[in-house]
This record gives sequence, C-alpha cells and structure tokens, in this order.
Amino acid sequence: MAGESYWAHVPDRKDTQVGFSFPLREQIAPEESGQGYALRMSQLNGVPGLKELKKLMGKSSTSLLSESDAQFLSMTFGASVEYLRFALGSAAYGDSPGQHIYAGHQLSKPSFINRTFPRICPVCIQDGGRSKLSWDFAAITACHEHRLVLIDVCKGCGKKISWSRLGGEVCGCSAVLDGPKVQATDVEVEFARWSVLKIQSAHPDISVRSLAIAVLERTDTQGGLMGLIRPLSLNAGLLIVSALGLAAKKFRLNEQDMKATTPLLSKARSALIVADSLVRQLETGDSGLFELSSRNPVVNMIAECMSGWATPADKSLAQSLLVKLGGVYKARQWTSPNPQLSQMLLF
Ligand SMILES: [Zn+2]
Ligand SMILES: [Zn+2]
Repeated sequence: MAGESYWAHVPDRKDTQVGFSFPLREQIAPEESGQGYALRMSQLNGVPGLKELKKLMGKSSTSLLSESDAQFLSMTFGASVEYLRFALGSAAYGDSPGQHIYAGHQLSKPSFINRTFPRICPVCIQDGGRSKLSWDFAAITACHEHRLVLIDVCKGCGKKISWSRLGGEVCGCSAVLDGPKVQATDVEVEFARWSVLKIQSAHPDISVRSLAIAVLERTDTQGGLMGLIRPLSLNAGLLIVSALGLAAKKFRLNEQDMKATTPLLSKARSALIVADSLVRQLETGDSGLFELSSRNPVVNMIAECMSGWATPADKSLAQSLLVKLGGVYKARQWTSPNPQLSQMLLF
C-alpha cells in the first residue's frame, strides 16, 4: 500500500467546503488507469460514461483521453495533475510517429498499450469499479493478486468490454461486469506482477515508487521467461515477450482455454506461454520442438532493446539472446552492431 502522503493531494475547491456538492472529487489510486479514473468519477457524478464526459470536454466520442486532458480532469474530479499525466500517458494510436510514453515508461511500440478493448479482473473490478493501469498493457493477461485471466468480453451481451460503458463495473448493456474465473498460468501471473511493480517504480509519488523498487529488488530470479527479463526495463521486457512469442509462432493454446476472450487477449496469452516454453527449452539446449518463425522480425525486435534509451541490462541481454537465437536458427554467425557491449551470461 502506498504511503499516507499519497492521499493528501486532493485539492479542496473554495466552493465545495461544506457538505456534499458536485462534482464529487477523489484522488486517483496509485495503480489506477487514467481512462478508468475518468470513467469511475463520471459514474460517481451522474455522467453516463466517457462518451458524455468527452462531449463536456469538447472532444469527439472516439478520441482517447491522454495526458493533455490531465488539467481538465484534475480541476473537475480532484486528482493531482502529475498523477493523472502518469496514468493517462501520451501513447498514440497505430503506427503514428512520436514518443510513446505510458505509465512513466518510454515504449518502442504504441501497440504495447491496448487502449481500445479494455480488460478487467472480475474480482478487482468489484472494488469500487477501479480499473488498473496495468490492464491497459496488451501483454498483461492476468491479475496477479487473484491469479485469474483478465476478461474483455461482457457475459451479459457477449460484446467486447468498452470504455464507452456506463461505469467501471457496468457494461453498456447494464449488466454488472463479470466473467469466467479462469486460472492464469504461472508465467502470466508472474509477468503481471513484474509489470505492475515496474509501472509503480516509475510513479511520481516517491512512497509508491520506493516500495515497488524495494519489492523488485527482493524478487528471486527464477528460470524461464521471468528469470530472463527480470533485470530489464519494462519496454525491453515487452519487446522480448513479443519477439519470443513470435519466434515460436506455431504453438497454439487449446481452444477450450481461449473461450470468451477476444483474439487480442488470446494472442497475448499464447505469446507469454510460448515465450516461457521457448526460454526453458533454450535453457536445456533443446529447441528442436519449436517450429521457429522467420528470423528477421524476431531479430529486429530483440535488437530494438539496444535502442537509445535502453538500460545496460537491456542491451546486454538482447545481445546474448541474439547470439543464442542465431545458433538456434542455424543462420550465419551473428555479428553484433555493438561489439563493445559485454554479453550477459545466459543459461
Ligand atoms: Zn484481481
Ligand atoms: Zn454487456
């Protein structure tokens, strides 16, 4: 839990000193999604969903809330501008150029953020309808607290859950959001836990940040995917998961496991599970079971871990992984563009 200082930021308005007056104002929770906060506060204040709120803001109904809306939301609903900017981010749609910053992290690809098909944990969402920032990451498929697969389809109407819904826990069809409680695999849970801590380790509030950093430092290294990406930046972790998920492209989860989720969520689950299996097979030197996809896109994605803002750990691991996969692909000897970088000892 965040330190007490976190909650001391809701500024009082001169005209709301006494009693109960609208708009009701509240700080955004440390782990809360920016869109989710706007939706929850709209609901609390009788505004029927984000569509209506965007109208009030003079925005089109299809536009996304981003950090440029932090000031308005802060004045209206009371959260601090700094926390809202963190939770709203600047990630853009599609392949539009420019920097993609979300949850305090610079991201190589806007597609790392899923801003169109929101996911929820069917248990967490019952706690006041708060949506979590981590659920906005396309690669995160589970709630690490409840060890459940996130849901992105409404059981009531069978449609994809949307940000245009009536409230945090209420679909546009008026059904309370709920869904099948599917146990997530260990790698999904551990990846979600790691990602949440990484997100919080960049939070503007120092008490939130230091707690997350301390927990990350205490986490034991394990084998498999999580052992590999634990020392990395969030962006490099996301790149490695995408690359390894792509490398072992022929693997598919069984259809039963994939019921009642969108293809996007199913694909993200498969990517994590196959990336973990691939790393475990590389560890034992047996990668023969995987049918590997073509080498170039995989190699390019891993090489992106060496881009300008990468940490030394990112660069070192990317280099080692390229050498390892180079061997697996039985391709010509991989020659590094950065021969001065030391290699991390893998496997
Ligand atoms: Zn949960
Ligand atoms: Zn529905």
